[in-house]
Amino acid sequence: MQAKKYPYLQGEGLKLISYCPLCNTQYNPLAAKILEEREDAHLIHIECRRCNSSIVALILTGGIGISSVGLITDLTSDDVLKFKDADDLTLDDVLDFHLALQNDLVLKSIINS
Ligand SMILES: [Zn+2]
Repeated sequence: MQAKKYPYLQGEGLKLISYCPLCNTQYNPLAAKILEEREDAHLIHIECRRCNSSIVALILTGGIGISSVGLITDLTSDDVLKFKDADDLTLDDVLDFHLALQNDLVLKSIINS
């Protein structure tokens, strides 16, 4: 791991994402998965080894230092990659799903899949 390339996983930067917000267990920085990286931003996923919760964090590095925005999620890192570029849900999607759930055959296929 290169300190220059991943400054938020080193030294002071590590404090940004050091502890699980739910159980306060210290994260293993080597368990952080970098899902996407650009010159000044990294999207990372870390799973807590104790409570199995996860956070997805956007780490921004710029002229004024390092900042992060994170959220607790139940998504796996594969889920994040799957959904990050997906289209937004529309009202029609929700209505279609509601109608589909009223169809017994569709409902059974969802439950059995
Ligand atoms: Zn935890």
